[in-house]
Amino acid sequence: MKCILLRFGELYLKGNNRYIFENKLIENVKKSLSGIDFKFVKTFGRYVITDYELEKQDEIVSRLKTVFGLYSLSIADEVESNKELIIEKILNYNVSDKTFKVFVKRADKKFSLTSMELARQIGEKILEKYPTSKVDLYNPQIKINVDMRLNGKSYVFYDNIKCLGGLPLGSSGKGLLLLSGGIDSPVAGFLIGRRGMVLEALHFHSYPYTSEQAKDKVIELAKKLAVYVGKIKLHIVSFTKVQEEIHKNCLPEYMITLMRRIMMRVAQKICEQNKLNAIVTGESLGQVASQTIESMTTTTSVVENIPILRPCIAMDKEDIIEIANEIDTYNISILPYEDCCTVFLPKNPVIKPTIEKCLKEERKLNIDDLVEQCLVNEEVLFID
Ligand code: ATP
Ligand code: MG
Repeated sequence: MKCILLRFGELYLKGNNRYIFENKLIENVKKSLSGIDFKFVKTFGRYVITDYELEKQDEIVSRLKTVFGLYSLSIADEVESNKELIIEKILNYNVSDKTFKVFVKRADKKFSLTSMELARQIGEKILEKYPTSKVDLYNPQIKINVDMRLNGKSYVFYDNIKCLGGLPLGSSGKGLLLLSGGIDSPVAGFLIGRRGMVLEALHFHSYPYTSEQAKDKVIELAKKLAVYVGKIKLHIVSFTKVQEEIHKNCLPEYMITLMRRIMMRVAQKICEQNKLNAIVTGESLGQVASQTIESMTTTTSVVENIPILRPCIAMDKEDIIEIANEIDTYNISILPYEDCCTVFLPKNPVIKPTIEKCLKEERKLNIDDLVEQCLVNEEVLFID
């Protein structure tokens, strides 16, 4: 019988929490396959998906590849743990003119042969049936795996398909992703989601300086992200008034720094209102003027009691782009609509802002009032 064998890695490390993590993972696996008939079997250290329609197999695999916490999967044949049946199954697979190696893993220590003995006997039978095949222990073209589990079943497979790894979604609290239309923030959301954090998102727009399309772009990005992190509550907030006020009253080179400090204050309030545990951004150290260590110090200092998580902080742009392509957000991110940060972009943004100067500039504004106005006019969408 065809089946899909699932492996999870890091869960092993979680000690007493293991059951909580495992239950989350099982729940997420089942949820990802909703609408498809299948049977779920849990054996120690593996999950097995069986009893599905064969034509659904590709769809099942592609959905499982979006589930955080799964490390790899194999499409396998399930047979009773009986030497003859295992060999019969393997001999169906034509390895003529190929080099091969047999790998046997034996969780079931009661089986009469050791792993080595069984591997050798299987190898001999293969060579008998396919005389043009050859054993190659170091660089085989075909890896024949037999995974003998404690449930009396063995799984025969040839491929290991890599999955996303990480921890099951829902096992690391909830965060608020500051989602711009750029390349970095969707990647940041994906990376922190892979550590198990559920996400809401916050987008600032500057309508009418930014277009409707700029907003649609963010909705499209949130949809791509939702494939991995599930339904996203997207908070959309107008930043127009804030930008106009800063533009009118403050030093132009502090424009971006002051904007970002207000963004963080709004984000913190939304976290409080929605019981979220962290703010998540796509910042990468030194990438632009607003991402120097001094700039981050000034933005971090307005946030209290919750962390600002910056999963892309140490990544090069090329690496971020690679992930953006994998999660299919890159082509949306590069669509050329204005972002609110680019609308009032000063010619020479300050590279090393200081908190004292920020405070001095902010005295020219009614910060509480501006934050409040952002919040009352918030629009909320649910994206999945
Ligand atoms: P990105 O590619 O994510 O837009 P960026 O390299 O353009 O990042 P910045 O514009 O300095 O960098 O933004 C840094 C981070 O601040 C973003 O990754 C995002 O988390 C947040 N941010 C910027 N603009 C917005 C916005 N309009 N709405 C929500 N968050 C934003
Ligand atoms: Mg940006």
